[in-house]
Amino acid sequence: MAIDPSFENTYEEVDRHEDHRVWTTDGEEPTEDKQGIHGTHVAVDFDICIADGACLEDCPVDVFEWTDTPGHPESEIKADPTYEDQCIDCMLCVDVCPVDAIDVDPGRAGRL
Ligand code: SF4
Repeated sequence: MAIDPSFENTYEEVDRHEDHRVWTTDGEEPTEDKQGIHGTHVAVDFDICIADGACLEDCPVDVFEWTDTPGHPESEIKADPTYEDQCIDCMLCVDVCPVDAIDVDPGRAGRL
């Protein structure tokens, strides 16, 4: 299962983390095993992310950093789009993610 590219319509914004939005399907706060999506311009579905790390290695402007998610069934760290405002829309992270956990859409924030 890949990240839902229409999550701004199917998820609800429930929180802020490191200055970016956090979204969940049911509008409830994230839990240990159900983390939701982090980010808006650069969005990472934490419930899909397996901490492969290719996005951190390949992003030319260092948008991502690791964040701890202890107890999550897929991985106990996640690629957090902490610096999504620096994104240059090269789409490398989308291409290299082995589980399609990332969606990049520079217009999404403006549509909210
Ligand atoms: S699209 Fe490019 S610049 Fe933006 S987060 Fe992904 S790898 Fe980094």
